[in-house]
Amino acid sequence: MTLRRAEDIEVEQRGAWFFRSVVITTPNATFSLRGRRLRELEEQRVGGAALVGESRGRRLWWVGDGFYWDADGLDAEHVALEVWDRARRREHRYDRLRTIRAREDEATTTRRERIPEEVRILVWARDEGRCVRCGAEDELQFDHVIPVAKGGGNAQENIQILCGSCNRSKSDHIA
Ligand SMILES: [Zn+2]
Repeated sequence: MTLRRAEDIEVEQRGAWFFRSVVITTPNATFSLRGRRLRELEEQRVGGAALVGESRGRRLWWVGDGFYWDADGLDAEHVALEVWDRARRREHRYDRLRTIRAREDEATTTRRERIPEEVRILVWARDEGRCVRCGAEDELQFDHVIPVAKGGGNAQENIQILCGSCNRSKSDHIA
């Protein structure tokens, strides 16, 4: 894909009101925009793409707050879609990273903050040494009702006994 984010762009506002102009300086060219054309471009760049000008066979597009060089002769709609798609993929990637990080943080915190012994004893008695969901009596684990990563603490009200299989199905629902 030959649409590239333009680096080293300077945008300078000059004048005011009807005499306002915007000068866009790239390493190879300077574009001076004013009057009706400036207003049109400023409208087009919001939610779309505005063609600023050409330099050395490439076209400079203004999209939102960014600038892009295009050597493929894309039209405004394609440029806007391309930029939107990149932002969406980037956001999707950050979402995945956030999830992975939250899981790792949770694992770390859980290891760090052990449930106090006296709370375990109270919870064990209260839950009668069984999984509170299915009543199983083996592979039991102390579980935070509200996960530590979501602000749940080690008070007995937030601790319950679950068997491994109920605990796993609970984590799947949270994730
Ligand atoms: Zn169970």
